[in-house]
Amino acid sequence: FFIMSNNKYTVLITGANRGLGLEFVKQYALDNYEVIACTRNINKKDDLHRLQASFENISIHTLDVENFLSIDQFAKTLTKPIDILINNAGLYPNSSFDHINYEAWLNAFKINTLAAFKMVKAFLPHLKKGELKKIASLTSKMGSIDDNSGGGEYLYRSSKTALNMVMKSLSIDLKPHDMSLITLHPGWVRTDMGGPNGLIDVDESVTGMKRQIDKLSIKTTGQFIAYDGKKIPW
Ligand code: NDP
Repeated sequence: FFIMSNNKYTVLITGANRGLGLEFVKQYALDNYEVIACTRNINKKDDLHRLQASFENISIHTLDVENFLSIDQFAKTLTKPIDILINNAGLYPNSSFDHINYEAWLNAFKINTLAAFKMVKAFLPHLKKGELKKIASLTSKMGSIDDNSGGGEYLYRSSKTALNMVMKSLSIDLKPHDMSLITLHPGWVRTDMGGPNGLIDVDESVTGMKRQIDKLSIKTTGQFIAYDGKKIPW
């Protein structure tokens, strides 16, 4: 089948080749959004390419969010407005008190925290030209300080806590530009990262997160919300 679209709004999604990112691509494409699907390995004939074959409103672009220069270059070549930016790309380096890889820790900060900030900065001109002016970043309940009863997981937890703080500041700084931000906990989802024991599938998670993005407005900017709409303590 081939779905025609009226391309009303444009959404840009990082880490779009698998897991939650891929499901975001599918659901926004079905909603007739123009979907800019970013992946770091464009040559791999994967599920994203198979999905694209069924839609005319999905375009695939190379973007390794670790490479800030390439983020700037991509932003420069993109001329169209963006309505929604979804910072989805992320990684989960395992860690425990006895096993800390400091290089991996820095890298977790680079991908999970700094890259999300960099994406917002680089694509702010496009977002300002967009109608919806929304930015969603995938964080995790594991980044909640209040919710931490299990300890450990220093690398992942701290990089998501930092992401939460960065997005909170951005929500304040970008309010004058009418830009609404949300940090989203997707739930524990069965993906490569979440593993097979996750409590929900990508469909349920992304359906819920999309609903939260739909509801997002300048009045509710700067919140930490789960896929099911529950507010998460910082
Ligand atoms: P996956 O591990 O299944 O997918 C991660 C995605 O991020 C892949 O597309 C991967 O690309 C991409 N990515 C990683 N590093 C880079 C990079 N440098 N540049 C571009 N893309 C990159 O994870 P999920 O889909 O489960 O998670 C998506 C988001 O949700 C993450 O931010 C994660 O922290 C968060 N989250 C997930 C939970 C879960 O239960 N699944 C729970 C809480 C939060 P590639 O294929 O090239 O590696």
